Amino acid sequence: MIIDSHAHVSRSDWSSPKFLEEVIEPAVRASGEPISPVVYEGTDIPAMMEAYRTAGVDRVLLYAVAPREPKTFGRDPATREIAGAHVSNDYIADVCRQYPEQTLPVMSVNPRYEGDTVLGEMERCVREFGARAVKLYPTYNHFSPDDRELCWPIYAKALELGIPVIVHQSWTTLVDAPMKFQRPAQLDDVARDFRDLTIICAHFGVPWIEEAMCLVGKHTNVYVDTSYWATIEDPEIVLRHLLRCPRYGCTYDRILWGTDFPVSPPGPSLAIFRETLPALAAKLGLDPLPAEGLDLMLGGNAARIYGLA
Ligand SMILES: [Zn+2]
Repeated sequence: MIIDSHAHVSRSDWSSPKFLEEVIEPAVRASGEPISPVVYEGTDIPAMMEAYRTAGVDRVLLYAVAPREPKTFGRDPATREIAGAHVSNDYIADVCRQYPEQTLPVMSVNPRYEGDTVLGEMERCVREFGARAVKLYPTYNHFSPDDRELCWPIYAKALELGIPVIVHQSWTTLVDAPMKFQRPAQLDDVARDFRDLTIICAHFGVPWIEEAMCLVGKHTNVYVDTSYWATIEDPEIVLRHLLRCPRYGCTYDRILWGTDFPVSPPGPSLAIFRETLPALAAKLGLDPLPAEGLDLMLGGNAARIYGLA
């Protein structure tokens, strides 16, 4: 079973194009490619689902983005704008209802902006549309995931509801996202206090890859996903890093494949793992990633976590 454990959709009326531009522009600039129209127009859901079907992906987890206070976005001072940026839990639920065979909904909450309504919202999302996980965006929303007052009730509620917590604990190019809230090690206290809670550190903690690897090696309840990192990083570095992960206890049963769609479409992202990395291993005389490990990363682990096996 092939499962994309990390994907986004956007709507131009909710997510300012300037917000998305600010997030995506540096990587696009470096690649020399033009910015995809998706950034400005919002996600064409039928086209997205067709791309997943064509790529042979069985399921994709679609992430909501919790609301936040309006901020100033844009790199060009002449065209900066003040806007919010969110994708509502109910919109994700609607899309998932239209594509029940392909998608799974992931809710999002922001304890800094939504206050103590977040616990009720978490219950509602599980009860009303079967949300499979909750996503937190600490750096975007200016809190640390080890803020006990803000976050411990969320972790306790997730544990009670039996759902994983996915945390964007990594870099972003958004100017207004403080780097002091981005470190994977900020999940250590969470994992120590909530040893039965499944915690997924998104984007492999990029650029603190080793810190994330060690976090996973230390805690049996912590996972990482490859989204964004595997797309922007040099494939040789991805390969060499994945080969050394098990030495630190970050075994392949704890690494999840994700595209961070629309950062990468599913076909090219899968091709990195199925074609580029094996070809590179052969060329460099390195061991290939073990076949069972690859199967786990590309879907086996997500199937186990989300009860899809
Ligand atoms: Zn993401």
